Amino acid sequence: PVTVRLRGVRVRYGPDDPWALDGVDLDLEPGRRVALVGPSGAGKSTVAALLLRFLDAQGGHVTLNGRDLAAYATDDVRRVIGGCPQHPHVFDSTLRENLRLARPGASDGELDAAAGAARLLPWIRSLPQGWDTPVGVHGARLSGGERQRLALARALLADPALLVLDEPTAHLDPAARAALTADLLRVTRGRTTLLITHDLTGLDAVDEIAVLDRGRIVQRGTHRDLVRRD
Ligand code: ADP
Ligand code: ADP
Repeated sequence: PVTVRLRGVRVRYGPDDPWALDGVDLDLEPGRRVALVGPSGAGKSTVAALLLRFLDAQGGHVTLNGRDLAAYATDDVRRVIGGCPQHPHVFDSTLRENLRLARPGASDGELDAAAGAARLLPWIRSLPQGWDTPVGVHGARLSGGERQRLALARALLADPALLVLDEPTAHLDPAARAALTADLLRVTRGRTTLLITHDLTGLDAVDEIAVLDRGRIVQRGTHRDLVRRD
């Protein structure tokens, strides 16, 4: 189990840029799900990049189980903290290989389980070549929703202690967004999760919602607290 704490975290991309994160406090605790919500440009992806060590904070502290995150090797951090990038990559290979890259040693049963949890399995089984269907440039195009579900299945197969989902529903139509949000909440129950999104819809089940605006947390509470206040 992991606990990650951000205290007074400040990040900027260049010496003359405004702070992308300007004093952020956030606690990610075992088994709890936190949604980080806010408009485009608020700094949400910067939090994901910080957790995955694509960048480091210029101010404040980020700790993983009490130890400075920057003191860990990047590979060690990414074994513990993992998730779905905003633009998941689909490789020009089969569905099986696209999923298996999350854990090369995974068995076919484990692939089925992860794809089942992501509600992708009936679709895969409906394809004439099933798991052997090539995707990407030479094969079937995946819809945005299938792409995100493939990324979710990958994340579940990798089984990180802290799951970071960066705007998994951003590019979907409202119906696909509602369906994926419901599935995300079902499969992440009891799992330490940071769910990054730009709207509150369907987030009733998360433990905490933190609203980020221009690099600062401007509100936090449960879905009920925030919806009542609006
Ligand atoms: P969000 O995910 O909430 O849309 P981001 O974390 O992507 O917000 O961006 C926060 C701020 O940092 C924005 O002002 C954005 O323009 C800036 N920013 C993000 N990535 C970069 C980058 N690679 N170089 C320069 N500025 C960036
Ligand atoms: P990004 O989503 O990061 O902008 P691209 O759209 O450029 O990435 O796609 C990256 C790779 O994924 C390319 O090899 C492309 O052929 C493949 N790809 C993109 N969209 C799909 C899709 N809907 N189904 C299958 N492969 C795709």
